[in-house]
Amino acid sequence: MRTSDDGERGLWALGCACAKCRRRIALFRDKGEGRGPAETPIRGEFGFACPHCGADNSVNVRELARFRTDGAPTADERAA
Ligand SMILES: [Zn+2]
Repeated sequence: MRTSDDGERGLWALGCACAKCRRRIALFRDKGEGRGPAETPIRGEFGFACPHCGADNSVNVRELARFRTDGAPTADERAA
């Protein structure tokens, strides 16, 4: 019963915290909008540079968390 706020506070994303600065990084759009199984365009381990501090990160997609983001996911276009 909470549909009215959907879309008003950004979009659902899959991501993780930067290993260095600990800021949250949105990597992929969560096509399930917070529900159902999390889907990502890739599987397994992958590396990326933190958009906040530039540190190299490595994460397994199974470790990604869901959250809402105000900005566009950073890796979505590149991986698609
Ligand atoms: Zn960082």
